[in-house]
Amino acid sequence: MMDCYGREINYLRVSVTDRCNLRCQYCMPAEGIQDSGHERILTFEQIIRLVKLAAECGVRKVRFTGGEPLVRKDIVKLIEAVSSMPGMQDVSLTTNGICFADMADDLKRAGLVRVNFSLDSLHADRFRYITRLGNISDVWRSIEKALAIGMMPVKINTVVMKGVNDDEILDFARLAAEMPVHVRFIEFMPVGDLPFYQEERLVNMDEVKRTIKSSYQLLNGLAGRGNGPAKVYQIAGGKGTIGFISAMSNHFCGDCNRIRLTADGRLRSCLFDKREINVKAAMDRGTGDDRLAIMIRQAIREKPDRHHMEKGWGADNSRKMYQIGG
Ligand code: SAM
Ligand code: SF4
Ligand code: SF4
Repeated sequence: MMDCYGREINYLRVSVTDRCNLRCQYCMPAEGIQDSGHERILTFEQIIRLVKLAAECGVRKVRFTGGEPLVRKDIVKLIEAVSSMPGMQDVSLTTNGICFADMADDLKRAGLVRVNFSLDSLHADRFRYITRLGNISDVWRSIEKALAIGMMPVKINTVVMKGVNDDEILDFARLAAEMPVHVRFIEFMPVGDLPFYQEERLVNMDEVKRTIKSSYQLLNGLAGRGNGPAKVYQIAGGKGTIGFISAMSNHFCGDCNRIRLTADGRLRSCLFDKREINVKAAMDRGTGDDRLAIMIRQAIREKPDRHHMEKGWGADNSRKMYQIGG
C-alpha cells in the first residue's frame, strides 16, 4: 500500500521482545529492562494475526528484531509461520549473534535464509565494553555457522562511533574482502537519548568511505534489491561487499518502505516519530480483523515524510531502541 507521500510500504519490522542478553551502551540502560511480565508483550497468535493482516495490506518483507529476537522462546515457530504465509517474499532476522550458532539449523529449517549480525568491534575487550556482557567468540561462532549452512546473504552491521571503534574501519573492510560477508557501516543515531550518544561520536559515512578507499578499490554502487537504504559496493578482488547507511548525514526517508511493530504491540510508522497505534490493546479488547486492518492502513497513511533527528531525539520521545525494535 502507498503512503500519502507515494512510497510503497511493503516491509514490516517486528520486534518480538524487548529483552536482551546484552546491554549495549547505546541501546539499553546498564541495569537492563524492568521485567513487568509476559502479558505486556504480543503473543505468538497476535503477531501472526497482525502479520497476516499487514500482508493483506501489501507487506511482503518481514524482519524479526528486538531486543534480542533469539531470546524469545517461540522465535523458530514464528519464522516458520511467517515464511509460509502466502505472498511473503522475504523473512529475515537481526541478531547480536550470541545464540545464533546453537539455533541456526532450526532457524534454517523454519525457512530463514538470511541474517544480519550486529558487531561493532573485532576486539574482544572492546566488544565486551560496548555490549557490557558479550563474548565475541560467540558471535564468531555464529557468523561461521551462518556461512557454513548457506545463509545468503550474511550481513554484519557496524555502528561507527568516533573514539570508540572508528579505528577499526579498515579491519571491517578487510573482513568483507576476505570473507563472503556484507559489511554495513551505520551512522550513529540519537535514538533513545541514552548518555552514550554524543554528537561528537558521530562519524559521517563520507569519512568512512574515504578511509576505505585509501586501501581498497570500491567498484560501482550496487543499487536496489535487498540493499535497502545502504549504498553498496563490491571490493575489487574481494569476496563480500561494503555498504554505507547514512541515516544522519544523508537521510533516505524518500525511499522508505517500512513500518514497525513494537514488542508491546504498537504500530510505529517511523523510527523517529513518537506517535504509535496500540494494536495490542485493540486485540485484547476483542477488536475484529476489519478494524485492525484499518489501524494498519492508518499507520501507513500517517507515516511522516522524513525524520528530523538532526534536532536530537526529543525529551518527550521516551522509547529506547530495544523497545522500538532496531
Ligand atoms: N539485538 C539485535 C541486534 O543487536 O542486532 C536486534 C535489535 S538491535 C536494537 C538492532 C540494531 O539497532 C543493532 O544493529 C544496533 O546496533 C542498532 N542500534 C541500536 N541503537 C542504535 C543507535 N543509537 N544508532 C545506530 N544503530 C543503533
Ligand atoms: Fe541488545 Fe541489540 Fe540493543 Fe545490543 S543493540 S542491547 S544486542 S537489542
Ligand atoms: Fe523511514 Fe522514518 Fe527511518 Fe526515514 S527515519 S527511513 S521515514 S523509518
